[in-house]
Amino acid sequence: MSIKVLLLNPIKPGQDFNVNVDPVIIRHTGAQTKAGIFSPLGLMYIASILRNNKIEVKIIDPVPEGRSFESVLDIGKEFDIIIVPLATSNISGTIKLFDNLKGKIRVLIGTYATVISDQLLRENKCDIVVNGEAEMTLLELCKAEGSPKDIIGLSYIKDYKVIKNSDRPLIEDLDSLPFPARDLIDNNLYSDIFFGKPTALVLTSRGCPYECSFCSVKFVYGRRLRVRSVKNIIEELEEIVFKYCIKNIFFIDDIFPVNEDRVIQICDAIIKHNLKISWVCNCHINLITKRMLEHMEKAGCKEIRYGIESASADILKGMKKNITPQQAIKVIRMTKEVGIIPSGFFMIGFPGETVEMIRDTVNFAKMLNPLYAVFTITIPAPGSELYYSLPFSKRTELVDKFDTVNSDTTNICGIEPYILTRELKRAYISFYLSWRFFCNFMSQAIQRPSAAVSVLRMLLQGGIKIFN
Ligand code: SF4
Repeated sequence: MSIKVLLLNPIKPGQDFNVNVDPVIIRHTGAQTKAGIFSPLGLMYIASILRNNKIEVKIIDPVPEGRSFESVLDIGKEFDIIIVPLATSNISGTIKLFDNLKGKIRVLIGTYATVISDQLLRENKCDIVVNGEAEMTLLELCKAEGSPKDIIGLSYIKDYKVIKNSDRPLIEDLDSLPFPARDLIDNNLYSDIFFGKPTALVLTSRGCPYECSFCSVKFVYGRRLRVRSVKNIIEELEEIVFKYCIKNIFFIDDIFPVNEDRVIQICDAIIKHNLKISWVCNCHINLITKRMLEHMEKAGCKEIRYGIESASADILKGMKKNITPQQAIKVIRMTKEVGIIPSGFFMIGFPGETVEMIRDTVNFAKMLNPLYAVFTITIPAPGSELYYSLPFSKRTELVDKFDTVNSDTTNICGIEPYILTRELKRAYISFYLSWRFFCNFMSQAIQRPSAAVSVLRMLLQGGIKIFN
């Protein structure tokens, strides 16, 4: 038998925004309201591996493609194996979809599915859960035509019992992975807040050496950094630039510049190969050096996204963020000096935080004056230290309550939910109606009108969601 495999991004009835929880870029929930509509990179990696092994595969990304829940259900009926990354922010949609696809082999992947695999299987929400890094496990599962027995990295139900096969080791040689199957998606649907459409995502490493208590990256990818070679990265960039004619790149690594020498080698190679790309990346405040920034700017880096999180040294310590507000001030200044635009991500409602501290964080954001700021209510991401610090009953209760974006129902800080929501709205109003933001925005708008349009679009879309 030859099997047909559907790789499907989550959707729920009536959904008009993209949650885009991806098996390889797991932190980026609610992406459309924050920083763009990201292509399903993890699904493209899986598709590429399956296709190289002569397995028929299709990717559907319903929201950017403008598909309804009902039409996705009809498409699902044509396939033998349906694989969905479980998103905390729309678990009900995936479960409803799978309830209507009984008889097919229904597979859930991603961190959240791994964390609650027992519950999902016991309650017949799916047939198989892939624990951890998904690519090689799914290849073996599809080669076995959906039979999970003896395939490491899987959990499944047999005789009413949950069977958990042994864990699969992480992929050591990332260069051994084929490039993501960009030909299976419409690249023009995907954007970044800074560049607009099209923007390609590129992942040069997996894992993060830090251990922020709210983050679940290490749960699946570990703290040890695994990196691709510079040659391999450049080959993928050449494919993106010359085959797909895309010049805007988001290096979606959890932290792109972990090692100064490696970043400089990548930057020098981008210049040497005359790629003429423009790019953005995520950085950690305490890894940045002036030398690194200068090379990045020469190689086309236009914007750096920093997780600054809080103005309170105590809260940052509680988060195990490994940075201080003073470091943030210095690095944002340095970034501006070399000609790269900084943007900032902030969290409110962390345990121990008071309303005064939240307002201090908003004032701090205004003082730093990044191009744009994103404020979110702290969510104990499944798999994170914060999640496991909650009593079991609270964790179980959260399964349903996660089903929104920017939810205050997961409140874990002790501040009344309605006050947290009020403070979130207040943060956005205070930041975006300030003179500092207006002046900064106007000067950027003159230099780069497309970025200004994108920020305005984000404010409109994000604003509507938050103020609804
Ligand atoms: S720096 Fe912290 S938040 Fe960022 S990926 Fe690493 S552990 Fe997660």
